[in-house]
Amino acid sequence: MRILTGAIRIIVVFSVLTILTQIGGLAYLAYKPFGLAMRKRNKAGGFSRWKRFGLFAGIYLAGTLFVIPPLAELYGRVPMPWFANEEQRIKPATILTCLANRHYVRPELKALISDLSLQMEEEAALVYLDANFPFLTGFPLLPHKSHDDGEKIDLSFIYRNTQTGEVVNDAISMFGYGVTEDPARGEMNRPEECEGKGHWQYSLIRRITPQWRKEKYVFDEALNRELLIRLAKDGRVGKIFIEPHLKQRLGLDRHGKVRFHGCSAVRHDDHIHVQL
Ligand SMILES: [Zn+2]
Repeated sequence: MRILTGAIRIIVVFSVLTILTQIGGLAYLAYKPFGLAMRKRNKAGGFSRWKRFGLFAGIYLAGTLFVIPPLAELYGRVPMPWFANEEQRIKPATILTCLANRHYVRPELKALISDLSLQMEEEAALVYLDANFPFLTGFPLLPHKSHDDGEKIDLSFIYRNTQTGEVVNDAISMFGYGVTEDPARGEMNRPEECEGKGHWQYSLIRRITPQWRKEKYVFDEALNRELLIRLAKDGRVGKIFIEPHLKQRLGLDRHGKVRFHGCSAVRHDDHIHVQL
């Protein structure tokens, strides 16, 4: 019985870590023999649970920092920057995106976002959200439907601080998703339409994300328009998804690359989806 529960635990931990980080499950399997040996010695009064966790974290981090990037490059994917600097004003919404290996893209996509960050009038960093895992085309980056080939990345919209008027160099929610720029009265309202057709998932992330930060930040129409036009005019970009009411509000009707993603996806008035 103990062997069975032990095996089930290994399968569950392996699966969760693989779903969240792709390589976390393998790091766990690499750690496990050492962890079991430490546990045996613990019976004689040796290592604590925290020390075992520290060992796993060390193996995982070493893999994430030093092993995965060169291997991913062989596979045709490179990591997006962990921090903004002078050459590339790009940063993740949260460092957890990088720690979870969800920031890998094809080199062309990294170059595209990097170029764009330097072209923007305002000296603000572009904030990226989920991109792709380092390996295996078709391996899903949940909960996204299509971030599975190195060719997709989500960007945050650009906001200003309501009080200071300064551009916010950050996402306005914990992971960058869920705080929405809702349809105004009289604007097209796809979220309402999609939910009316039974697509319950369409606004799910918004419903579970606190919206109080909206009062502190204001959606900057001019900068978001500039960002989207630069993206749409770039020959490397294939498609851009935002909510139709924002496309209308920002006057992007003649830009065919800016599209509606369909009711079976989730709403895109909290982020911009870009793909090659
Ligand atoms: Zn996306």
